[in-house]
Amino acid sequence: MTAVLTPPALVTQASGGSAEAVVERRAARVPFPLASREVHPDDTVITLRPGVELGGRRVLLMGGPCAVESEAQLMATAEATAQAGGRVLRGGAFKPRTSPYSFQGLGSEGLRLLDLARRRFGLAIVTEAMDEDGLARVAEVADLVQIGARNMQNYSLLRAAGRIRKPVLLKRGLSATLEEWLLAAEYVLAGGNADVALCERGIRTFARETRNTLDLSSVPLVKTLSHLPVVVDPSHATGTWPLVAPMARAAVAAGADGVLVEIHPEPGQALSDGPQSLSLPQFAELAATLPLIARAVGRDV
Ligand code: PEP
Ligand code: MN
Repeated sequence: MTAVLTPPALVTQASGGSAEAVVERRAARVPFPLASREVHPDDTVITLRPGVELGGRRVLLMGGPCAVESEAQLMATAEATAQAGGRVLRGGAFKPRTSPYSFQGLGSEGLRLLDLARRRFGLAIVTEAMDEDGLARVAEVADLVQIGARNMQNYSLLRAAGRIRKPVLLKRGLSATLEEWLLAAEYVLAGGNADVALCERGIRTFARETRNTLDLSSVPLVKTLSHLPVVVDPSHATGTWPLVAPMARAAVAAGADGVLVEIHPEPGQALSDGPQSLSLPQFAELAATLPLIARAVGRDV
């Protein structure tokens, strides 16, 4: 571990001087002063829409399909999300797919459907912007603009995300260290956008049994190093639906400010990420167990 990532509690304070001087010294020492908890001790709370906050006492439950596929699919999923107590609907309109031959998303039509679901069910929307060209269009509909794992170090996109007036959900890169992840967040913050949340979605390791390895210790560690809210995506982290609910519960126990779960009315028919998608009843079952865990760690859902 580098000195930079030593949690504040373990750092020996330089003594003397005014409070301002102490803050200045800390800012000079950390490479990500805007994201750093040493410089900004208080938790950042992001308001996605009135009454929907990320980073406050309540853990935010977010559900939805990997990709928006049709009006019927999205509305059924949105209704189930709201009924389960979810307050944010996810769904990709623009999909970063490993193969160019895989379903790439409905594009603008997907955004229109997300907007419709938001109006109909009162949910906040999180959806991905893949490039600078699409960013403004996505930001019109999204309450939380996702920057995906593959784009975590797309610095021109990060700078552009710093200029928008919508909160950003920055996913951890496939092989990113915590420092690289926090420096990526720093790009958005330095661009003038203070509303940045981080999302742990698993990292690539030698383990083959899961799609990725969920680095759950990153949650308390990042929250020690930074004041930014931290969300966990147990779906991409595991790649396999039976592991999703246990890891979602573990995420809440570890102090996550939100969980982002892929769900689908018919996972077997999903155009992307079906194997890791919960069915709608499975999501309701998971949602019913989260408040108890949240209360054990001083939170609510
Ligand atoms: C997604 O949320 O559907 C997605 C593609 O996530 P990630 O960038 O974490 O792979
Ligand atoms: Mn997905």
